[in-house]
Amino acid sequence: MPLLEVKDLHIHFKTYGGEVQAVRGVDLTLEKGETLAIVGESGCGKSVTAQSLMRLLPKGIAKVKSGEIWFKGQNLLKLSDKKMRRIQGNDLAMIFQDPMTSLNPTLTIGTQLTEGIRKHTSISAAKANEKALEMLTIVGISNGEERLKQYPHEFSGGMRQRLMIAMALICEPDILIADEPTTALDVTIQAQILALFKEVQRKTGVAIILITHDLGVVAQLADRVHVMYAGKVIEQSNRRELFYQATHPYTKGLLQSIPRLDDAKEELIPIAGTPPDLFAPPAGCPFAARCHYAMDVCRYHMPVTTAITATHKAACWLLDPRSKGVFEELA
Ligand code: SF4
Ligand code: MG
Repeated sequence: MPLLEVKDLHIHFKTYGGEVQAVRGVDLTLEKGETLAIVGESGCGKSVTAQSLMRLLPKGIAKVKSGEIWFKGQNLLKLSDKKMRRIQGNDLAMIFQDPMTSLNPTLTIGTQLTEGIRKHTSISAAKANEKALEMLTIVGISNGEERLKQYPHEFSGGMRQRLMIAMALICEPDILIADEPTTALDVTIQAQILALFKEVQRKTGVAIILITHDLGVVAQLADRVHVMYAGKVIEQSNRRELFYQATHPYTKGLLQSIPRLDDAKEELIPIAGTPPDLFAPPAGCPFAARCHYAMDVCRYHMPVTTAITATHKAACWLLDPRSKGVFEELA
């Protein structure tokens, strides 16, 4: 049984202009100790999916229309708020893009680090302090005793992100959800934080769901990848398959739009056009308006998800045997 299993998740957002269908039938599984990346452009539904796992969707605005989120034999969408609060932080933890918005500027790091664990367990103050020191060591912050007495503003951006990771991991969660965890950081610090994720995973065995728009981050960290587009998972594979055998035209477009370190001269090809309006998503393939390979069927019928290997699937009509040859002809 997977550690986490999401089945056919649909999430809508209420706006003045009407209802946005932000997530449209997402399935995913997460195994113990692995890193699953959810990749896509902003607005594709990746952050919304992540927030729904923690039940942190904005109340009164976002609504889970249907679907199931299974974790340890229970559907998280059916739990009472009280039971869910016990799971938040304790079993599932989340870190965000901007650590400053999640750290309280008026409390010491020590207080903030131990708060979580003391809320969730009956651990003594001394033991919690010990645990906090241990976490600082794991995330590579030295002089722990002194650091615990300091306030967030006394830490640099990279150090604050390390603190966020420490806070998220102090209750030893099974799953860490990281939404664009390195986007706000400069490149050198970014590399350090990504290395830290790997290190922390090796030491604690935590499974990671990584939300990112950055394929470089995926290359460094992910075991498996889900590519999202217009509220749907359009391709899923392991890391190697993503970079060497991407099949969906959108994924191929994403790969062509990233700079390659080994070939500085190679031109970047951004994907022309914009994603569809999710107030009234198209009946057919959501990528059809931007796709070089689009056929008539694409515009009117949603492509089915087809298995390419045991670990690789994509939702594209080109995988249908009836379109055999079209891809080669147009490529
Ligand atoms: Fe392009 Fe059609 Fe495949 Fe969609 S289903 S990605 S439009 S070829
Ligand atoms: Mg986002």
